Amino acid sequence: MPAAVQVVIARAVVQTSPSAVTRNNPVIIKPNKWGQTQAPGWSPWHLTLTPILAVCLFLLVACQRDQEQSAELFVFGTIVEIKLWGASPKEASHAFSELQKMFQGMHRDWHAWEPGRLTEINRAFAEGRTAIADPDIVEMIRRSQIIEKQTGGRFNPAIGALIRLWGFHTSDYPIVGPPPSQVQIDAIMEHNPSSRDIHINGLELRSDNPTVQLDFGGIAKGYAVDLTIRRLRELGITNAIVNAGGDLRAIGNHGDRPWRVAVRKPGGGNIGSIQVMGDEAIFTSGNYERFRANQTERYPHILDPGTGWPAKDIASVTIIMDEGLLADAAATALVVAGLDEWVEVARQLDLAQVVVVDEKGTVYLTPEMEQRIQFSGDVTRDIVRFGDD
Ligand code: ADP
Ligand code: MG
Repeated sequence: MPAAVQVVIARAVVQTSPSAVTRNNPVIIKPNKWGQTQAPGWSPWHLTLTPILAVCLFLLVACQRDQEQSAELFVFGTIVEIKLWGASPKEASHAFSELQKMFQGMHRDWHAWEPGRLTEINRAFAEGRTAIADPDIVEMIRRSQIIEKQTGGRFNPAIGALIRLWGFHTSDYPIVGPPPSQVQIDAIMEHNPSSRDIHINGLELRSDNPTVQLDFGGIAKGYAVDLTIRRLRELGITNAIVNAGGDLRAIGNHGDRPWRVAVRKPGGGNIGSIQVMGDEAIFTSGNYERFRANQTERYPHILDPGTGWPAKDIASVTIIMDEGLLADAAATALVVAGLDEWVEVARQLDLAQVVVVDEKGTVYLTPEMEQRIQFSGDVTRDIVRFGDD
């Protein structure tokens, strides 16, 4: 049995300081383990190769195709690791530079607080003006409007003003200090910002509600991973893993070493691990890495749009499905739903593979997910069937 590669779901592990992310240099690219950042060059000299040399070269290229090609790109404060199999070094190098350009555009256009297209849109909403979006922002809004409805408002990317008030427009965690006052929270909550206040006309956006401030923190990583896979497929690449700090999507085969995603235990260690299969996305939302700390109290960065306060009692939710965007948004929504309501929300979203870990380390999971997890040691677990009442 080949050794497994373990991807620990730990966004903190791959965070880098915000000083590394500047608007002019939001993306870094690292050479793969053979030091390749560029495709090998060709000169007329190659045309004079003897047939034997040509055969050797063919064998070398065939062999390189079997090898893994990898790069690390940087977007929204997260390192995205991309591994390809079955691609030649030249194809891989071209793909990585295409993705680098794509990520630069996303970082510029979707960032919730660095000045760019989204901050422009938010300013237009606050001033009651029409804003011009791009097709990807329009797509995230359209999908968010549907998901917000399906989740009873638990997923709501229009609460950017609340997220800012809590100080979560930062890459530097933990934040230290007391929470905002109830008066400050109420001043936003009384206007009920919702993605459904936004009217879309082609690329034109208008909001009925000046309190609407878009923050795609709960969905952008999922959509970015989906767009990455789509671009790789357009470039003819069929075997790949795109890993954004433990949130990932894979297609095809992943070499001879199966990938595993660890499911974290609150307080440290792992509950178990999940082997990544063919074409699927695995996304986790948790309250253990990004939070505000005030003396003994912790205020995690996922907010309940119904109260304006952080979601509590669930430590993490991991979802497996065929799409990053919905897996990302759904994981955030289930954390908000909490232990009493996550089953209902998962049913509304038609999810099948879900694992929820509470603050005490008790695991709740669907039968489909139970098949996927290899538990490490004794874990208290409860199988939840969505058909059960
Ligand atoms: P992570 O960023 O750790 O992957 P999530 O996918 O759950 O975690 O996204 C959390 C981010 O989503 C927050 O930092 C914030 O930007 C945004 N957010 C917080 N609460 C909500 C909510 N109820 N609905 C939509 N987005 C939210
Ligand atoms: Mg999310």
